[in-house]
Amino acid sequence: MKIGIICGHGNGDPGAVSPTFGSEADFVRKLAPLIKKYLSEYAEVNILDTSINWYSYLQSNYFDFSEYDYIIELHGNAGAKDHGGNGKTTGIEIWVTSLEQAITVEQNICKAIEQFGLLNRGVKVCDFLVITAIKKQGVSSCLIENGFIDDFDDMKLISDNIEEYCKILARSISEGFGLKNKEDSSADENGKYVIQCGAFKEYANAKRISDKINSIGYSNCISKINDYHKVYVGPFKNYETASEVSANLNKNKIDNYVLLNN
Ligand SMILES: [Zn+2]
Repeated sequence: MKIGIICGHGNGDPGAVSPTFGSEADFVRKLAPLIKKYLSEYAEVNILDTSINWYSYLQSNYFDFSEYDYIIELHGNAGAKDHGGNGKTTGIEIWVTSLEQAITVEQNICKAIEQFGLLNRGVKVCDFLVITAIKKQGVSSCLIENGFIDDFDDMKLISDNIEEYCKILARSISEGFGLKNKEDSSADENGKYVIQCGAFKEYANAKRISDKINSIGYSNCISKINDYHKVYVGPFKNYETASEVSANLNKNKIDNYVLLNN
């Protein structure tokens, strides 16, 4: 699986600004390499050119995002007006486009960041320019508002624990997609749904599909049932996640269908 990270603002546009913690543009450019570091344990990750202000750029230019399976656009929120710190966070929220079918990955991120200590404002829908341009190319995308730049408590919590924040964010994305750690090939916990990716008389044919799925980063196994070697991805706890992975497999030209895990 290939994941892209876009940093909001930049190229002269600071975004929101905190008197204590600096600009939103600089803040998200600190998060991106750390998220990449931790997410790379599970997927191929690329930070898109941070010198570009993608919001401005995409208004008059086309960019091909189709090599990616998922793209996150990083921002910080504004409007809390709590520069002194009132002991309460204003929180994280994630935006997806109205074209997005499933939001289980984004809900998983919000829940994980809630555990980290930020208020969970949930997943919301708006056709923001960058994520819509990406989604129109068939690539899932979301815009993450990583706390409020103008909330002292949000920024202090994240800045003081920036490694931990990025690690949790990366883990929640990989968990949401059911990606296995590249160094840990152990089987997943029991889930309700699996994805079958073909049934083959010849083991070699099943192995070829299995290898291809491994190269994308999904945990899978080959089971011999009634003379057929069947390739399974998963299991998954919920149907929406299985469907999202199924769509990514289709995109990589691997025929598959979701079924109940018996
Ligand atoms: Zn912003």
